Amino acid sequence: MWRQALVLLFAVSALVAAAVTVKSWRRRDATAAIRSLVLIGAGTVVWAVADLCGVLTADPARVVLAKAAVFPAVCAVIAGVFCLCLAVVDRGWRLSRRTLGLLAVEPVLVSIAIATNPWHHLFVLADVRTMPVGGLAVPVFGPLFYAHALYSNVLLAISLGRLVMARRQAPPAHRRVMELVLVVVVPPVLVNTVVNLSPVPVVDVTVVVFTFSAALLVWGLQRRIFADLVPVAHQRILATIDDAVTVIDLSGRVLDHNPAAERLARRLVPELPATLIGVPVADLLGHLTLTGSATEHDIVDAHHRGIDLNVRVNVLDDGRGGHLGWTLVVRDTTETNRQRLALEDANRQLRDQLHTIELLRADLAEQAVRDTLTGLHNRRHLMAALHREVSLSNRAFTLVLIDIDHFKQVNDTYGHAVGDEVLTHVAGILADEMRHDDIVSRHGGEEFVLLLFGADPARARARIENLRTRLAATPVDAGGTPVSVTFSAGLTGFTGTGTPATLLAEADEALYRAKRNGRNRVELAGTMAALSSAGSG
Ligand code: GH3
Ligand code: MG
Ligand code: MG
Repeated sequence: MWRQALVLLFAVSALVAAAVTVKSWRRRDATAAIRSLVLIGAGTVVWAVADLCGVLTADPARVVLAKAAVFPAVCAVIAGVFCLCLAVVDRGWRLSRRTLGLLAVEPVLVSIAIATNPWHHLFVLADVRTMPVGGLAVPVFGPLFYAHALYSNVLLAISLGRLVMARRQAPPAHRRVMELVLVVVVPPVLVNTVVNLSPVPVVDVTVVVFTFSAALLVWGLQRRIFADLVPVAHQRILATIDDAVTVIDLSGRVLDHNPAAERLARRLVPELPATLIGVPVADLLGHLTLTGSATEHDIVDAHHRGIDLNVRVNVLDDGRGGHLGWTLVVRDTTETNRQRLALEDANRQLRDQLHTIELLRADLAEQAVRDTLTGLHNRRHLMAALHREVSLSNRAFTLVLIDIDHFKQVNDTYGHAVGDEVLTHVAGILADEMRHDDIVSRHGGEEFVLLLFGADPARARARIENLRTRLAATPVDAGGTPVSVTFSAGLTGFTGTGTPATLLAEADEALYRAKRNGRNRVELAGTMAALSSAGSG
């Protein structure tokens, strides 16, 4: 009868403990406390099964063997309770490797003591006693068992002691979780102490009480942690955020608000009553009139200071379509708006500066390819254009090298300044006669190079002759004295062959011929003269 009752009790305990383990395992990610319950549950299953085996046999050797299997499980349960208490005291607590290592020392020692028991019989004594009632075999323990019991109780006392200490300063919802742990852990500890200290042999039913404690803990922790702590956490978050949150009931009165809402309301309307609960929401808002679900407002507070507000109104329903009221979330955007405007302003200035820099850069780039005296393009520009045209080789052009005749005499007779004026004058006439895509450059000194596009040799020559006559007929006014100059020119053509160097050499050779033949003349390079005569012939 006794045996059957105990078999039933231990079997049920094993099943309940298994259910606790599975349930805790499923929610193991929620908190460290729930994870500790996995250890407590698993240890309890082994413990209950070992006790079940112990009562199923009358063989003393098997009774001792079954009891030996209990101890590692008991160690796991005690370690689990220790972790549970720490996790409940400090919600940020995590099981460190160090703590795990320290907690493993005693179970290892106990396992060694049990394994070597047949030689020393210091953990379980060799004899087995029989219970006065029921006649069940009960092992008799030696000093090492009592050392283990002492260690377990000290560890439990430390765990529960920390819980008691922490409970005093804990907020109410947290305190209730601690009380739950205390209430459910103490009974199995008491039962175990009574069993261990009993003068008559009794069957240890601690595991049964522990199983139901663990079940109660799973149920209670889940309820407390997920039902009570979450709203508390929400409340805390609301209390710390800067957005003003107000809950409004169906009659348009304040049902709840956070500290930021109170601060804002009193800034807008200082004469509000001591509590804002029950106050019509319109009274809180001062100059603010709600128009839509999400709006921006630029208003003044009670001290006539400007304030930018972002207002969001959300309908509060019960999840089944029933309308409960509204939430009003107001964010002070004055500072962010100010920063945004400052940023936009800085951006605008930066864009203006970039534009100026771009203009300066373009100006600088232009200056780099211009001759400072005449304003014409310089040799650098001419050479770049010449290289480009020759390498592209997709259009014919005439290269003209112009040199002012006896320019040294002008300098010598009228001075360098008049010489400069003459250069500018010649440059002006050249530029004036150029077409849109022609290039005219001052090549250096009193030499100019022109690139004339789209003109056949005869036409090009005619244009230069025209220039020559125009210059000869247009003297420069040098302080009342008219100064006449002429130029000589050498022309060569590009029709797909030649390099910039050969083209310049050909033109130079033609120019040299013009000088030699009396100056104030236009001469064609050999290749061009042939083309020209073929064209005219
Ligand atoms: P030719 O008819 O053979 O070309 O004789 P030229 O006197 O024109 O030739 P030459 O090469 O002997 O002299 C060119 C002169 O041009 C010499 C130099 O002082 C002058 N010159 C060069 N650059 C400038 C300038 O920028 N300004 C002035 N005023 N004179 C310059
Ligand atoms: Mg010269
Ligand atoms: Mg000259």
